[in-house]
Amino acid sequence: MKFWKMRMAWVEDNIPVQERVFHLIVSMGIAACVLAAGVGIFVRESPVIVASLIVGALFFTALLFIGYKFNAIKICSYVGISIVNFLLLPLSFLLTGGVEGGSPQWYILGMVVVLVLFRRKTRIILFFLTLVDFCGTYVIAMKASHLVHPLAGMEAAYLDSVGSVVIVGFIICVLLLFQNDIYERENRKTVAQKEEIQHLNQAQNTFFSNMSHEIRTPINTIIGLNEMILREEVSDEIAENAMNIQSASRMLLTLINDILDLSKIESGEMKIVPVQYETSVMFSELVNMIWVRAHDKGLEFHVNISEELPSMLYGDEVRIKQVLVNILTNAVKYTEEGSVTMEVRSEVIETNKVRIHYSVADTGIGIKKESMPYLFESFRRVDEKKNRKIEGNGLGLSISKQLVDLMHGQLTVDSIYTKGSTFHLILEQQIVNPEPVGAMDFMVRRKARIRSRYKQSFEASKARVLVVDDNEMNRMVAKKLLRDTSLQVDTADSGFTCLEMTKNRYYHVILMDHMMPTMDGVETLQKIRSQENGLCKETPVIALTANAGSESREFYRQKGFQGYLAKPIHGALLEATIVRYLPESLLEYAEESLMPGEGDGLSVYSSKKPIMIAADCSCDLPLALRQENDIRVMPIYIRTREGRFSDGVEIDSENLFEYMEKNNSSVTNECADVEEYESFFADMLSEAEEVIYITAATGNTDSFERATNAATAFGNVHVFDSGHASCGLGIMVLLAANMVREGNTVNEICERLEELQSVVMTTIMLRSTEQLYRNGRISKPLNTICGVLQIRPILQMSKSRTVCWKIETGSNEKALRRFIHRQLRDRKKIDRRILFISYAGCTAEELERIVEQAGKEIPFEHIIVQKTSASVASNIGLGSVGLMYMKNTARDSK
Ligand code: ADP
Repeated sequence: MKFWKMRMAWVEDNIPVQERVFHLIVSMGIAACVLAAGVGIFVRESPVIVASLIVGALFFTALLFIGYKFNAIKICSYVGISIVNFLLLPLSFLLTGGVEGGSPQWYILGMVVVLVLFRRKTRIILFFLTLVDFCGTYVIAMKASHLVHPLAGMEAAYLDSVGSVVIVGFIICVLLLFQNDIYERENRKTVAQKEEIQHLNQAQNTFFSNMSHEIRTPINTIIGLNEMILREEVSDEIAENAMNIQSASRMLLTLINDILDLSKIESGEMKIVPVQYETSVMFSELVNMIWVRAHDKGLEFHVNISEELPSMLYGDEVRIKQVLVNILTNAVKYTEEGSVTMEVRSEVIETNKVRIHYSVADTGIGIKKESMPYLFESFRRVDEKKNRKIEGNGLGLSISKQLVDLMHGQLTVDSIYTKGSTFHLILEQQIVNPEPVGAMDFMVRRKARIRSRYKQSFEASKARVLVVDDNEMNRMVAKKLLRDTSLQVDTADSGFTCLEMTKNRYYHVILMDHMMPTMDGVETLQKIRSQENGLCKETPVIALTANAGSESREFYRQKGFQGYLAKPIHGALLEATIVRYLPESLLEYAEESLMPGEGDGLSVYSSKKPIMIAADCSCDLPLALRQENDIRVMPIYIRTREGRFSDGVEIDSENLFEYMEKNNSSVTNECADVEEYESFFADMLSEAEEVIYITAATGNTDSFERATNAATAFGNVHVFDSGHASCGLGIMVLLAANMVREGNTVNEICERLEELQSVVMTTIMLRSTEQLYRNGRISKPLNTICGVLQIRPILQMSKSRTVCWKIETGSNEKALRRFIHRQLRDRKKIDRRILFISYAGCTAEELERIVEQAGKEIPFEHIIVQKTSASVASNIGLGSVGLMYMKNTARDSK
């Protein structure tokens, strides 16, 4: 760099930081010397000092020049700091009055410069030496004061000191600002780089997933139509060609999947999604798949799975299978004769945790010792000479290893070159059902590779299937693949067409492509579920997807699909998937075993519902509404002197009032104990994957605490405190059930419920304070006074607490009228969709009047009148009336 060009080098981002610091300090050194010399002349400082300051300025200029000219900034930094800190500053200290002048401030500057100009060890050593040196001069000044040259009087001392404070202070401030500026610039640069990397990663992922989707569509056509050729009576040559097309397409597909997985792993987007799975099902699929390949090569396939293995585990089944398939396929690929043996054993490490050892041994070509370190590297195929003829891309083991790392497991290999290899996989998983899996009987499909005549697995000419896909080829392939089943297959080229069709025709199964323009498969599914007059609200919908990862499984399950099929669609899997959902009465013919074959594309969820909603029975929802929305309720018990009665089952509010009248006694509410909640949840989990349990306000019962306690035993039961009671709780329960139908996830539902807490209004007018007194909430005198004054408290639920919000007075009829009017007069603020009127022991005429008035105040779309449960009635007393509705929010008014 030319000297004249380096004037402002400290602002240049592309120059190393230390160089810029050097430049700035030396420049400031020059400026400080020149300024100090000027001040010195002005205050008539001794000529020696002025001269030395001018020498200082020249010295710094020379330093800067040499540093740049000879590219010796580092050396110049050392020389500069040594001369200044070890020579000039101590000398100046002794010559300008020692502690009386401004030298101490310059000492501080000397130390600061060491700190900013140097790094690491040099910084520590120089700082230490500077400190010793400076302290040394203090000792000299103290012990041999005659060596200190005094300043010319007090005035000079003050001037020297203040001048130093100003200059040193200024330089230190500039250095701090400079450091700060560098820090901020670096920070901005790092953030920008990070954003760029993220952006690139995202772009790469989007590219890969789009590519994968785009490539799968033509492969789907190739494989599908090729399968049609194989189903026909064709010559052996054509059949052989078709089989080669099949194997080449499958290879291409494996490559796409591998590249997609790798890109996800590298961008940190690969997620491990644990689910409950049946051990025997997973191994049965694995054995079926590998047995065929081993058999084709004339290899023996031994399976030795410990009978002690827990029958149900919690882990990422898809990824575990992917790793095992890869190791097993390699074992078959790299073995010419002999056998492949899979062994699995488990050891329980905690009460609900198991460590599983899987090992796959082969008698194949083995791996050279020197190749071992590269085995798990991407695109690395070892011993290329020997396995040149074996298909492979060198990605499988690398992906497997990284997946195992993500699952916190271990994947290792022992191998003897030319003798064979053993891969060991160790994974820890949670036990869902500890019952031993026992001896497994694998239904191996002894399907030889030679072309066997295709035969449809079932026929059902009266069953209707709808295929929704924007790609014409995909629709055509699906239709052709189903031709021999005689199914009535309709197709729709978009979500909109699909909705038109589901309005007019009932379908037994819908196959839905995910990625469609304008309205995608997920949105279409939601619309089918809530379609007014729709005929397919309950029809099972299977997603057709380009991605078969475990995230997809979770994704589609949460979105409310009953299963998913990965493209390219495999004919046998397609049939196996559809037949699961057809009523037996429509099956005109069905193969005995409809077991799916190669499990690499099919994922049908258990027939369980994804989410079910349950609540305390005090949600006061009419039975029909509960049944329609599949809402389960947990009874609360009413404790009387005669014993405990289950609310809604053994006692209702009328029996309760009768009992209280007759016995003139009070009752208490008791919620079920933890074990009862556990068995209630266990029953629900046999029907649903996840349960959301919504309790009444915690202030009113213990049900939240007990249900939460019980839920810990499961992991997929979510307990939510509604903060409301009676129909206020009921409204939240209904909305949650509605969200389940729309395919929302547990998180989405819980988030919405949280918002709803302040949207739902629960207000109840008590006919009297009698029940409050009976329940010990108010004293007898207060109750008597309230009775005399005809005080009718209005209770409102807020933040899980019941507060007496207002009171009405006068006759019950008038008070009720005022209560309803005041409650509903703010028309604009109330959601008109639904009003619940809950009551405890009102007459039919009273109810009629209430409904009529409420309808006049606001024309609600639905007014539901519901008798409260006994548990609610026991808190509010005879003749109480509640109004429960929602406030208007922007979201709800949509
Ligand atoms: P590929 O698609 O080439 O099989 P992998 O990542 O699965 O890729 O395996 C990487 C390499 O490791 C293979 O190319 C092969 O050389 C070696 N290898 C893997 N498994 C075995 C095995 N069971 N026996 C011998 N060599 C193996």
